[in-house]
Amino acid sequence: MQLGQHIRGYVLTQWLGSGGMGEVYQAQHQSSRRPAAVKVLYRADQAARFRNEAYIQASIQHPHIAALYEYTVENGIPCIIMEYVEGITLEKLIKRQGRLPESFVWKIMEQITLAMVHLHEKDIIHRDLKPGNVKVNRESFAKLLDFGIAKSVYTPKFTQEGYIVGTSHYMAPEQFQSKVGIQSDCWSLGVLFYEMLTGYLPFDGRSETEVRVKIEKGQYTAPDLLVPQISKRSKRLINKLLKNNMSHRMTAAELLHELQNPDKVGVFSISEWVENLTDLVEKMPIKRWLKQIND
Ligand code: ADP
Ligand code: MG
Repeated sequence: MQLGQHIRGYVLTQWLGSGGMGEVYQAQHQSSRRPAAVKVLYRADQAARFRNEAYIQASIQHPHIAALYEYTVENGIPCIIMEYVEGITLEKLIKRQGRLPESFVWKIMEQITLAMVHLHEKDIIHRDLKPGNVKVNRESFAKLLDFGIAKSVYTPKFTQEGYIVGTSHYMAPEQFQSKVGIQSDCWSLGVLFYEMLTGYLPFDGRSETEVRVKIEKGQYTAPDLLVPQISKRSKRLINKLLKNNMSHRMTAAELLHELQNPDKVGVFSISEWVENLTDLVEKMPIKRWLKQIND
């Protein structure tokens, strides 16, 4: 594909990016001038997977998810024509700025979690949540992109699962054992949350193996050791998302509730918001301790 080329009335105007399966261009509809993004498949062997991406994107309508306009095959090349999402990817933003202000991070987390709750209600797993797949505009409005490896109940088993090149930094421990579930997206939400707040990945290493070992152990540097001003609340939410056992992990709906009700402590038990509870209880007469909690 080349700039200036026409696809279904859309003219390709600018190259936006490329990834595992295709290239993405900015485009404009000739007669209506409607802007669009066109994702062109360049790996012919991935046609079935690309079709799956289009079908899933077509089944979703949500303010925080890039909408599909059309799926078409031009001269044998499959193309996804979709809403053009303005702004900058979180990946570029973090590269440029380092860690982001906590109030902004919460705003973004709420929007991406809204998108995830919607997907999970439809039994769709995104499987590729990372900063490069989220765009944010000037008004801090965020949209989720890239359903390239998303999975719905209709997704067939692809023979070449092995094509996935990208990064394993955002993968949940169970994904290394091919046991993916909607909870795997919640792990990635935790990684994204951590990275936006600190500017660092919770699980990093010099090789894929090193990263994988760290993920499987679930060991990461507490975010407030890197950035002391991070709130206890953020720290606890990250902790509830980065649970190795997927059945103990916080769900997207629970996370959304927490993000939208930041002042209510109710959902957490006392042991989660009182530091070193056992210490306290052991060193202090129980009556005084109870009084202190109630005050
Ligand atoms: P890949 O599967 O190659 O990662 P993506 O869908 O993530 O493909 O697209 C790659 C890049 O293209 C994104 O990081 C983003 O910068 C840009 N892009 C993708 N879709 C859109 C869109 N709808 N609007 C604007 N930019 C987009
Ligand atoms: Mg991508």
